[in-house]
Amino acid sequence: MLIVKKFGGSSVADKERIYNVAKRCIEDYQKGNDVVVVLSAMGKTTDGLLALAKDINPEPSRRELDMLLATGEQTSTALMSMAMGALGVPSISLNAFQAAMHTSSRYGNARFKKIDARRIRHELENRKIVIVTGFQGVNKYDDITTLGRGGSDTTAVALASALHADACEIYTDVEGVYTADPRIVPNAKKIPEITYDEMLELATLGAKVLHNRSVEMAKKYGVQLVVRSSMNNAEGTIVREETDMESMLVSGVAVDKNTARIAVFGVKDTPGIAFKIFDLLAKHQINVDVILQSIGREGTKDISFTVARDDAEETVAILEKNKSRITARRIEMNDTVAKVSIVGAGMQSNPGVASRMFEALYNVGINIRMIATSEIRITVLINEEDVEKAMRAVHDQFIED
Ligand code: ADP
Ligand code: ASP
Ligand code: MG
Repeated sequence: MLIVKKFGGSSVADKERIYNVAKRCIEDYQKGNDVVVVLSAMGKTTDGLLALAKDINPEPSRRELDMLLATGEQTSTALMSMAMGALGVPSISLNAFQAAMHTSSRYGNARFKKIDARRIRHELENRKIVIVTGFQGVNKYDDITTLGRGGSDTTAVALASALHADACEIYTDVEGVYTADPRIVPNAKKIPEITYDEMLELATLGAKVLHNRSVEMAKKYGVQLVVRSSMNNAEGTIVREETDMESMLVSGVAVDKNTARIAVFGVKDTPGIAFKIFDLLAKHQINVDVILQSIGREGTKDISFTVARDDAEETVAILEKNKSRITARRIEMNDTVAKVSIVGAGMQSNPGVASRMFEALYNVGINIRMIATSEIRITVLINEEDVEKAMRAVHDQFIED
């Protein structure tokens, strides 16, 4: 069997944990399997590197930032190979350049385009454990790129697909995918199996246990994933196209604090205004999420929407600059909001799910600022300070023992 095993930052945070991971990988290797290991940077290394950069230059070049961030994964993979060496097992660490992991050019948010797996295959044929840096790639300028925070999961799936691996295992600091972040909702339950579609919604809506792009890619290439703990042998969560279980009304609750609300007041109630606003933002590569438009009165209307918090200031600046073109009277930004979402394939055929969610929030006195829905999710925008209370209330409403 060819197995891809990915370990996150907390799983390789110190010497003891590095050895723990090395031993788990060696077990599979000694059973005769080919083992490819993908690692994140140790502990909170990436945060530390980001802080270093911001201290030198608050607006560092994106190219140089990726050059810097990529060192975290190079450190952990080299140390892992040294640990395996100390345990007497042949291994080799490879960075994105050496493993020929080609991405788009976009620094900080690159996407995989092509992986030339020859080097990895060659090392496997020589019976080495191959340890590959997560989170990074190489673009057409031969520059290092990174995939966005949490991107090592995507490296693992990309390699599993390129190598036609028999298994792709994501090891982390919880035992699998839960019905909510177990750190916020202590009675959250482990989900034995979940579909790609539900997992993709959860990941996109803030459940950072898997990078959303990794789920997108797993679905596209049919890579079955298992999410489990690096600390014990508990059974984890299987992510695949269809599950054997009857679809749950609500399979999980997710929260995303990385959001800000922008309100544009008093625009003309005529055709083309929404187009002008969102076209401006699209041209600046700003992603817009929940959108709300008021009913027109006295010839004007208000449009509000959410963007990622990092994009909020730029969004306001762009709109202010084009204020007369978009006919706005006033533009407001609020970055103390958060999104809480419920996801479940069973929602499609069950009316009343939204009202039950709103009831749960009403019961704990939480005001809803915006609402968005799709076939399998409902998202509400609330004040950030209410997040934990909201998560618990909504979770208890839908997920019983
Ligand atoms: P790693 O470093 O292993 O990639 P992450 O910190 O990226 O780990 O992801 C694991 C974390 O995701 C958990 O510690 C947990 O707090 C958080 N999390 C958020 N939502 C969920 C969920 N639905 N199920 C499990 N964990 C979740
Ligand atoms: N080290 C990177 C991060 O902290 C990638 C990852 O952990 O997946 O975002
Ligand atoms: Mg992660």
